[in-house]
Amino acid sequence: EVWVLRLGHRPGRDNRMTTHVGLTARALGADRVLLAGDATKSRDTIEDITDRFGGPFTVEQTDEPNRVVREFPGTVVHLTMYGLPVQDVEAEIREAHADEAVLVVVGAEKVTFDVYEAADYNVGVTNQPHSEVAGLAVFLDRLFDGRELDREWTDADRRVVPMATGKKVVPTDSEE
Ligand code: SAM
Repeated sequence: EVWVLRLGHRPGRDNRMTTHVGLTARALGADRVLLAGDATKSRDTIEDITDRFGGPFTVEQTDEPNRVVREFPGTVVHLTMYGLPVQDVEAEIREAHADEAVLVVVGAEKVTFDVYEAADYNVGVTNQPHSEVAGLAVFLDRLFDGRELDREWTDADRRVVPMATGKKVVPTDSEE
């Protein structure tokens, strides 16, 4: 299993980014996102997309994110621009993931130092400042080695028919 923990949500200001962390986690192969703090609006949006476009994917809220990090029974990867380059540690993390679950932690504003200490890996997707959504996307793609792109979805009520030009969405019971 792969879980994503989104720390430091600020209601209002972070709604869109937190929603995008959840949607990106879902689309790129994670099983669950945990949202710290009052992120109910983002949770509703992510659940709505999962209902329409499929899962399995779970959204949860937590008031004790640091405890989730401390007590996670698996490998904890904290994404941070200050961490070790992803290309240097990805193989080791993939190996760990063969045996146990992975928790990927991303921040919003400043992440407290106890998260850096509790993480098994502090990982940078470059050592340049950018976005939790971008960092998460690149990390998950490395973790799954691209296989997440061919993921199958269950319990969707609609799906996109890929096309070179145009937009086509059909009910999932359609043969198209
Ligand atoms: N300035 C804040 C700090 O020092 O903790 C981070 C703000 S940044 C907009 C929000 C989140 O994006 C970070 O907590 C981290 O998870 C992620 N992030 C930003 N740049 C990153 C990078 N180069 N590699 C990995 N994650 C990154």
